[in-house]
Amino acid sequence: MNKHIVILPGDGIGPEVVAQGLKVLEAAGRRFGASFSTESALMGGAAIDACGDPLPEATVAACKKADAVLLGAVGGPKWDNAPRRPEAGLLGIRKELGLFANLRPATVHPELASLSALRPEAVERGVDILVVRELTGDVYFGEPFGEDVRGGVRHAYNNMIYNENEVRRIARVAFAAARTRGKKLCSVDKANVLVVSRLWRSVVEEAHKEFPDVALSHMYVDNCAMQLIINPAQFDVIVTGNIFGDILSDEAAAVAGSLGMLPSASLSGTAGDGGVGLYEPVHGSAPDIAGQDKANPMATILSVAMMLRLSFGMHDAALAVESAVRDTLRDGWRTGDIAGAGGRAVGCERMGQLITDRLLQSR
Ligand code: NAD
Repeated sequence: MNKHIVILPGDGIGPEVVAQGLKVLEAAGRRFGASFSTESALMGGAAIDACGDPLPEATVAACKKADAVLLGAVGGPKWDNAPRRPEAGLLGIRKELGLFANLRPATVHPELASLSALRPEAVERGVDILVVRELTGDVYFGEPFGEDVRGGVRHAYNNMIYNENEVRRIARVAFAAARTRGKKLCSVDKANVLVVSRLWRSVVEEAHKEFPDVALSHMYVDNCAMQLIINPAQFDVIVTGNIFGDILSDEAAAVAGSLGMLPSASLSGTAGDGGVGLYEPVHGSAPDIAGQDKANPMATILSVAMMLRLSFGMHDAALAVESAVRDTLRDGWRTGDIAGAGGRAVGCERMGQLITDRLLQSR
């Protein structure tokens, strides 16, 4: 198998963590008989500096031809007052690639349970949640929206709207993901109040017929927010709309602990249907530690595992990368952000090497 990957290192710690992600990707290819060709392209502040545009045409063209895209992070104080901000590149590439599904796992590693915002009893059974969020619709993009004055009183409004095709495609991504995990999908809505949610719920139930081996449940968003705190271990995969997912995925991240541990994927379809996937750590460019070899590369390395699984169907390789991360934690190695949980302190590059070594050794 030969796959072509476009690398968007970006700004701040982006290039540092991406370098470690690539090291692991190459090792996974060596061990599992796949070869990966890579090409670096400009995005964010680095692209503004080079050509005045956070998302150059050449970058879009390269990403559209790629099998997958690996992104570091963009932004930083240097460009805070730029006429076009680096983050515009991020929004632009999501739009250009038609990425409608955002997948964010929130895992509590037993070794890092003390970093979770929750009580030890709530996480001691282990937490492994995947939040699948619809990314291109809902109240964030619905029309009409605007402001007006009615009877002398200022009004403002947005429009929560989904069509059945948008719901069906995100439901399929979530069911397909659940099939590769614990085979449980919880669809989150507000169907007791919102007519949009009633359509959402009925389309998710229709899509369920294509995935009878996955157990489907429904939960109101307010209850889900509470259940994530009280009993997060009950969840396998959660699927929800854009605004509910925005909030719940951040809440699930706090359950998991450090930003440096959280990977993500954004997809334009399910594996094998020709869609492209963009993989990136959840964290930003961390200007406060950039260039100091202090960044935790695990979020990026776990994003590489998601790429292997979701874009290339390399499940064994994905599991091996995730095991290598776990083994490294179990052996006590820690970057500064997770040092609160004890262990031996290392920098970004050494952490990447330790994980690569374990990946190649654990045959
Ligand atoms: P941030 O995620 O960059 O940093 C928040 C805190 O977490 C910082 O103290 C940082 O040192 C720490 N941190 C983050 N990632 C880490 C890692 N891998 N290892 C160790 N520590 C880590 O968020 P911020 O400070 O609010 O934003 C900084 C810049 O990043 C801003 O310009 C923002 O717009 C941008 N940003 C980009 C993305 C993206 O590219 N997807 C996401 C969020 C923020």
